[in-house]
Amino acid sequence: MTPHSYMRADLATVRAYSPPASICQLDLGDNTNLWGTPPSVDAAIAEMTRGALARYPSANAQPLRIALAGYVGMPVECVVAGCGSDDILDSIMRAFAQPGDAVAIPDPSFSMASVFARVSGLRPVLVPLTASQSPDIEAMIESGARMLYLCTPNNPTGGITSLADIENVLRSFDGPVIVDEAYAEFSDVSAIPLLRTYENLIVTRTLSKAFGLAGLRIGYAICAPLLAAEIEKTRGPYKVNAVAERVGSAVVCNDVQWVMRIVAEVRESRDRLSRELRMRGYQSLDSSANFLLLPVKDSEALATRLAARGIAVRAFGDLTGIGDAIRVTVGPWPRMQALLDALDGTGA
Ligand SMILES: *Cc1c(COP(=O)(O)O)cnc(C)c1O
Repeated sequence: MTPHSYMRADLATVRAYSPPASICQLDLGDNTNLWGTPPSVDAAIAEMTRGALARYPSANAQPLRIALAGYVGMPVECVVAGCGSDDILDSIMRAFAQPGDAVAIPDPSFSMASVFARVSGLRPVLVPLTASQSPDIEAMIESGARMLYLCTPNNPTGGITSLADIENVLRSFDGPVIVDEAYAEFSDVSAIPLLRTYENLIVTRTLSKAFGLAGLRIGYAICAPLLAAEIEKTRGPYKVNAVAERVGSAVVCNDVQWVMRIVAEVRESRDRLSRELRMRGYQSLDSSANFLLLPVKDSEALATRLAARGIAVRAFGDLTGIGDAIRVTVGPWPRMQALLDALDGTGA
């Protein structure tokens, strides 16, 4: 057998995720927290003993799940934690669908959703957003999919799905509905209260964005205990390492005020940036997250010119219904001013 003959044919067109390594002074490309890490991190790391590293962490991140359950106001049986919400999304796909099943995913949305579906042998069915940048609920339900994925605020557009729309989906669709709330802290809307009524809802969250801990890799799902137990099976044990378990718990218990302060600053920076961009002829999409999406004529060309000025942004080519666009992370105002200065200098 040659290596090609034992490689999976359906993976031939799946590309490994490899964001461009940023050599830029200012990275506005990945929506992480540009204010840095929350205050409890240093003490939590300092309190860790070397002995803790010689041992396994808890198999299912019990101490962290208790902290997260307190934060979202749900029982601990409803919370599953993993190595980033990527790990959680991947585990959910494997828990509730079998090879050949379809998963309906809005387009554009988080690109990894279709990648995880395909790697598990599922068929992503991409359903274009409506003209108002909302998921096309009816088309998703009628797609014949076994499972639905929604993302609110949606990456990369920044728009939110109303709770009425989410409730409509949960009521009409007979299957699991993932609501990816990676950016929920930046908006006023969460589907979590709907968990009390709908057993087919799975909300996923992360500490990578508002909580400023992308490097620790902590994500979680909140859902009915029966579904949480299934996700535990497909995720496997020890996915939250000992440092992440310790630091994550401390931050979730102590630093929510810090997160709320950052959220307020993000909103201020975001609204000011969108006004400044509009004055320069860039009409960004309405965003409830910590990033803005700007439709542009040639995203690669603009990203290259900004990189030459030390600023990395995420370029998207020909997004469905939008065309070329760049996505910029919202951070402290001086960094946004640096972006504006660079744009002014690019002659774009
Ligand atoms: C960043 C992001 C994630 C992944 O977060 P991790 O917890 O770092 O794996 C998930 N969903 C969306 C929509 C994101 O933008």
